[in-house]
Amino acid sequence: MKPLNFLTVLFGKAMVKTLKLMGRDAGNFPGLVLWTLNKNYLKVFSCDCPIIAVTGTNGKTSTTNFLNNLFRSLKGKNGKKAKIITNMQGNNLDTGIGSMLLQYCDMNGHIDADYLVLEVDESHVPVIFKHLKLETLVVLNFFRDQLDRNGEVETLILKIHKFLKTYNGNLVLNADDPNVARLGYSNPKNKNVYYYNVEKYEGATDELYEAGEGRFCPKCGEELAYDYYQYSHIGRFHCPKCGYGNIKPYVQLQSIDFENNSFSFEGESYTTKHMGIYHLYNLSAVYAVSKLYNIDHRVVKKVFGKFEVNNGRLEKFETANASMLLNLAKNPVGANMTLRLLNQDKGEKELLFVLNDNIADGTDVSWIWDINFSIFNGVTRVVTSGTRAYDIAIRIKCSGYDPDRITVQPDLDKAAAEIFKNGGTKYGIANYTAIQPTRAALKRYIERKGGEKS
Ligand SMILES: [Zn+2]
Repeated sequence: MKPLNFLTVLFGKAMVKTLKLMGRDAGNFPGLVLWTLNKNYLKVFSCDCPIIAVTGTNGKTSTTNFLNNLFRSLKGKNGKKAKIITNMQGNNLDTGIGSMLLQYCDMNGHIDADYLVLEVDESHVPVIFKHLKLETLVVLNFFRDQLDRNGEVETLILKIHKFLKTYNGNLVLNADDPNVARLGYSNPKNKNVYYYNVEKYEGATDELYEAGEGRFCPKCGEELAYDYYQYSHIGRFHCPKCGYGNIKPYVQLQSIDFENNSFSFEGESYTTKHMGIYHLYNLSAVYAVSKLYNIDHRVVKKVFGKFEVNNGRLEKFETANASMLLNLAKNPVGANMTLRLLNQDKGEKELLFVLNDNIADGTDVSWIWDINFSIFNGVTRVVTSGTRAYDIAIRIKCSGYDPDRITVQPDLDKAAAEIFKNGGTKYGIANYTAIQPTRAALKRYIERKGGEKS
């Protein structure tokens, strides 16, 4: 161990301890300070255990949570429950991961665990895994985020592509996203490329229904032909010119049944607490990883059937006579996914939409114009809230929805009371900085009202 590394760890740990004593969040700051001092500070860390990382635009947190639960149910090297280190709270930049590792490493920077399961921001994959040996990388999807409306998705993909050129570990790729699938060609020598997808489901469409990205062949530039779209640009595609596409997946979830929240794989039937086609793609990725690590399908079945991600990702809130399914939407794809669930639900329902324009959200909210509100099956009322409550109300009105059924309530507590004014089924959509305040407001309302009926 070099003395400088020892000092780095000592200093880093001291920062973590001080922040904790002060009751402050140590999730990012210590790593940021170390990074400022030395851009390669992550090299002080070492670990012998497998590192599994998840990246992509949407679904990183949920997928990482599922993997964490899966690996947690295994036995560790000492015969006890496996010790997993994970950044489930979503500190997914190099500084966040560095801060977390500081809390778990010894004074030599060594991390003792059975598995590291990490959610990693797309642009930070090359930085982090320059220093830590990655065993398995899962790539979920690439969508335009609220901040990158100028072709930055392509820049991100090229960054990961460059990193993968010399990577020989497991690569778990979404076969139905052409921009993800193309990464399977980054290193032709890598024999550990595994694709996953989901069988065509009843909501699949022949035409592109929502804004999408990967419509052109990444190999020759020809427009891709799609047999069907599952959602956005995710679907079965091929290139009519060079033949790219029609990938045979390693894992394909089948017999998708939204009525019973179930699907099948290799003759076994599975259930899940969350439904939604994009969630099933995440589960398919999780399944592929479970197969790579020879995890018994009964363990997978148990985790899929029981585990719920309660952090505003398809989270349920219930009062005596009403229930709300709340979902985070950082971009049009996220919002469209919740609207798909809402439209699949045959009964009447109300929608709460909370839109903020804080810096972390991107102050430009024009992405809401890419949300597809054209089908609004059985939506009897809409409540909008957040710092841009009026913008989202106007957006919904412009889709042809009756403005008399829209209530604008920028104050979140009042908006929570408003949406629960009537009983019945509700859906909630909130963007990045709005999701936690919305959850808090809904919880406060439910606590205040207890079991009372609306
Ligand atoms: Zn082509």
